Amino acid sequence: MSALLEVAGLTKRFGGVTAVDNCSFSVEKGTITALIGPNGSGKTTAFNMITGYLKADAGTMRFNGHDVAKPNPAKLYRSGLSRTFQQARIFPELSVRENLVVASGFSWGDLFGMRVSKSDRAAANEMLEEFRLDALADLRAADLSYGQRKLLEFAAVLMSSPKLVLLDEPTAGVNPVMIDTMERHVRARHAEGVTFLIVEHDMQLVMRLCDPVIVLDNGAPIATGKPADVQSNPLVLDAYLGA
Ligand code: ADP
Repeated sequence: MSALLEVAGLTKRFGGVTAVDNCSFSVEKGTITALIGPNGSGKTTAFNMITGYLKADAGTMRFNGHDVAKPNPAKLYRSGLSRTFQQARIFPELSVRENLVVASGFSWGDLFGMRVSKSDRAAANEMLEEFRLDALADLRAADLSYGQRKLLEFAAVLMSSPKLVLLDEPTAGVNPVMIDTMERHVRARHAEGVTFLIVEHDMQLVMRLCDPVIVLDNGAPIATGKPADVQSNPLVLDAYLGA
């Protein structure tokens, strides 16, 4: 296996709080890697630095064999690293279909000037079908349920044919049927070669879906390994129990 993403020495301070503290880990190509840890352990801050939404105080990053000196969300998206957010970031006033077309890399001008190519329309239609969103295609994204918005955001990030997808709590607040749907789509894309890094609080889902599992505490990994090994690691139990 080889690392698709490597971070080393990643650090972020907010005033007196060191949210991410000299944090190093890698995501091997072809894995569904989980990033877990108690609330406040630095997962979201790490995600935000890796994806260029937050500037790191220190640290280096390599993605797909290239050093990324200054992570930038748009550039990373184009080079195959995309992410979702805890609160789905979609265009609420656009339709479900338009959200997918925009995500494939078209500018607003292209969309409203109707210069979207046939192949991009076809790609959006395929994604609608794959995600069983076709019946909702012409609804405004704002009119979807919370879970459907998260599903749409997931479908949208796949429009860029990413190599690595970072999912930030994909199942938080969604119903059990939608949890199964999310899991099915992660597995399907993983089978096609997409690598995942997932922040997730549903431990049952992590245990059946992810390998390896990286556990953060106080801004740095305290354990990495197979789900069962991590689950029985005393350091991990202490971190979760606040000991
Ligand atoms: P997690 O995602 O694991 O719950 P976070 O990355 O959100 O953890 O937070 C890590 C620590 O950094 C927490 O102590 C949190 O309060 C702090 N923190 C996160 N973002 C900010 C911010 N924008 N300003 C100040 N403190 C922050």
